[in-house]
Amino acid sequence: MRHERPRAVTAAGFAVLAALVLLVSLAGPSATSPLTDAVTVVHAVSAALAAVACFTAARRQPAWRRTWVLFGAACTCWLIGTIAWGIHAFQHDGELPYGSWPDVFFIAFPVLNVAGFLAHPACGRTVRRLRALLDGLVAAASLLVVGWIVVLARVYQDATGDVLERVVAVMYPTADLVACAVAVFVVSSYGHLRGRLVVLAAGVLVYTTGDVAFALISQSTGWTFAHPTTLSYTAAFGLLAGAATSPARADDVVVEPHTETFLAMSWPHFPLALGLLAAMWQVVRNGSLDSVVSWLGVAIMVVMLARQVVVLSDNNQLRRDLEERVASRTAELQRSEQRFRSVVMHSADAVCIVDADGEFLYASPAVALYAGVAADGLLGTNLFDLWGEHVEAVRFGLMFDEAVARPGQPVTAEFQLQYEYEYQSSSVTRIETTFTNLLDNPAVGGVVLNTRDVSARWKLERDLAHQAFHDALTQLPNRTLFGDRLEHALVRSRAMEPLAVMLLDLDGFKAVNDTLGHTSGDELLAGVAERLLSFVRPGDTVARLGGDEFGVLLEEIADPAAAVDAAERLTAAFHEPFLVGSREVTVRVSIGIVHSTGHDTGEELLRNADLAMYVAKADRNTPYAEFRPAMHESATRRLELEADLRHAVPDDQLVLHYQPIVDVGTGRMVGVEALVRWNHPERGLVPPLDFIALAEESGLILEIGEWVLGTACAQAARWRDLMDTDEDMYVAINISGVQLKAPRLADTVRKAMAATGTRAGDLVLEMTESVLMEECAANLETLRALRELGVKLAIDDFGTGYSSLSYLRQFPVDILKIDKSFVDGIHQGAEASAVARAVLRLAQTLHLRTVAEGIETEEQRAALVELGCDYGQGFLFSRPVEADSITQRLAERQLAGSSAA
Ligand code: C2E
Ligand code: MG
Ligand code: MG
Repeated sequence: MRHERPRAVTAAGFAVLAALVLLVSLAGPSATSPLTDAVTVVHAVSAALAAVACFTAARRQPAWRRTWVLFGAACTCWLIGTIAWGIHAFQHDGELPYGSWPDVFFIAFPVLNVAGFLAHPACGRTVRRLRALLDGLVAAASLLVVGWIVVLARVYQDATGDVLERVVAVMYPTADLVACAVAVFVVSSYGHLRGRLVVLAAGVLVYTTGDVAFALISQSTGWTFAHPTTLSYTAAFGLLAGAATSPARADDVVVEPHTETFLAMSWPHFPLALGLLAAMWQVVRNGSLDSVVSWLGVAIMVVMLARQVVVLSDNNQLRRDLEERVASRTAELQRSEQRFRSVVMHSADAVCIVDADGEFLYASPAVALYAGVAADGLLGTNLFDLWGEHVEAVRFGLMFDEAVARPGQPVTAEFQLQYEYEYQSSSVTRIETTFTNLLDNPAVGGVVLNTRDVSARWKLERDLAHQAFHDALTQLPNRTLFGDRLEHALVRSRAMEPLAVMLLDLDGFKAVNDTLGHTSGDELLAGVAERLLSFVRPGDTVARLGGDEFGVLLEEIADPAAAVDAAERLTAAFHEPFLVGSREVTVRVSIGIVHSTGHDTGEELLRNADLAMYVAKADRNTPYAEFRPAMHESATRRLELEADLRHAVPDDQLVLHYQPIVDVGTGRMVGVEALVRWNHPERGLVPPLDFIALAEESGLILEIGEWVLGTACAQAARWRDLMDTDEDMYVAINISGVQLKAPRLADTVRKAMAATGTRAGDLVLEMTESVLMEECAANLETLRALRELGVKLAIDDFGTGYSSLSYLRQFPVDILKIDKSFVDGIHQGAEASAVARAVLRLAQTLHLRTVAEGIETEEQRAALVELGCDYGQGFLFSRPVEADSITQRLAERQLAGSSAA
């Protein structure tokens, strides 16, 4: 669109100009007519327009710049010539003879046109431009021969002027013809450019035709523009302007053609033949050639000779170019082949080519890495012989066949060369091969196998998978893998025998970790794993499910008793101590057992085993429990109980009972132990063993403990008011491990005493042995702080926990409470009373007070007196009773005391 406007305007302008010329010239030729001047002006305008168009194109089309500048210059010269001619004609009132200076400008027009054509980028090298010029000269000279013989000789003879005038008269058509010939040459050589070049050539042709005609006519009619032949000038300039205003094309910068058309090669011979014919005709007619024709003939032969030389040199140049191009292409090909070859040769990937039967056609050096045979040795052998009886041979063959069946489509697969569970060898264990069928490709003609070593990646993947599914410490399967194996085993068990799952939890593992350190804890876990493995059948799975929890999957357990049997054997195995560092450590296990029923999921089984284990843990008598559906109910009940427990303190549902602690010798009450009970709105009085553990787990124990402390302190203060200051009457309060670990226990105790006005000496805080042993250092600090308040400390249930007597020394305790289990058989001889005896002796050595728990019979009491035990408590003296009963007993004692006094 952008180019349409200037072209349309130019076309319209030239149409108007042409119409004007036609009108004027039809009006009648008159050398002096003012009409002639008008036509002169019209021609000048046409030339000016064409010049402007050419110069504009020179600016807009860089590829054609020189051509357009030269054509623009040609038009400008013609314009100057016309103006000069007009002025001369006006001054000399008409005619102007040949040989005057404006002729220079007119003749410059075709000369510059020739230069314009030759400057065109399509003409290429100088040799070709020269050839075009020489061809043009041959054609022009030949046509001149024709022209001379037909008309020009007559024109020349008839011309009135001097020699210069005559020569100039002949130079006009000569220059025109050369321009014409060059135009024809360029167009015939570069016809593929069509478009503008053809229009340009057409312009030059039209001009030449008109100019020759004009020259002939002006001979007879004299110089005048007012003639229809001059219309050719307007048309020629119109065509030039049209070409210049045509848009540039992408293929403007076109290299010279590789092959020349027949027309381009032979066209100068046509005018030559014409010239020859004309010359022969002159000989026939006149008997000889005239001198001009002879000279022209000589000139033609010279130019032809020069042309021949130029053509030869052009051909040589072409050949050299071609050779150079071939050489550089060959070198490039060689380089690229070398590049590919060295890439293949030095690649760690093995590349080989085999035929459709697997016979080696090529093998890169890296093949030796995989095949164990040098690449050269493989040629001619068969790929499948290399695989031999290998387990992967069949699959390799299948992949090969698949690739052969799908030409051009790569097939990739991994193959295991060898299994190495130790990962110690650096040899290739796994490869990845890509098969590409290039049998149809003539450059290859085979199946290409690209093989690389993926052992490292494979090992990494396997290591990661192992890490993801195994416990790093024990190397046992982890919970995820255990769950997975369980699911698979369940599927199998539906068709075969049922299975059983055991969940094991170590009791007191935390104490080992806390007292002996985490390294010892880890050692213990590893020892446990080892022992578990030695007790199961090879097909069974032992897994560490987390912390101190293990799982055992027993498959094909036809008789449920077999699982119980296994649990019993395991428990027995745990009686044997573990060697941790240089110490011997004994741990108890709690085992939950569950049997598959045929329609349960792995998750359900694990949940049920967990419940059973929880029950086993709670029951001190048996270390294992088989899952029963009723356990679900008790678990549910536990949950309900926990919810209810939250209301115990706020709703004032807790009560304290007090069990007297007496002097075993005299039976006199020296103190009481406060024992909490929960007055549940529906269940009635709930004993502490049913809810203390729950309160500890849920953290409610802190709230409960604070309430007990406050209530017991208040009661102690009230009882103190009833008695003399020096009378023994202490209140023992049980402190849970959770309370001990919680910050500021001493603070809480101090506040409780301050709030109730209790004397520190009237308070004893009881803590169980196992609780004291955990986190010794921190506990020690709390105990010291409590001691500083003036309260006494007692170790409860002494002898049941995991303790080391050497630790006992460190604790600032005042009282040892001997557990009921040692008191039970105290009267049954030396063996049964051995522990109680040892504890009593130890207490005496450390100057500790002793309190025997759970005295139920007179025999027990007597035995304890004999062994030197200080105090005791038990049903023999009194069950735990309400505070009022104690108050009453104290009041009675006071009364008895005062009456005795
Ligand atoms: P403990 O501190 O060892 O308390 C002694 C337990 O033995 C009491 O059980 C008591 O009733 C029982 N007992 C006393 N004499 C005899 C006897 O001759 N024969 C038998 N068979 N048992 C006897 P109780 O009250 O059920 O308390 C159980 C445990 O609950 C306590 O053991 C104590 O560890 C814990 N407990 C009780 N009250 C509290 C409390 O306020 N706070 C905390 N943290 N724990 C408490
Ligand atoms: Mg106690
Ligand atoms: Mg006790």
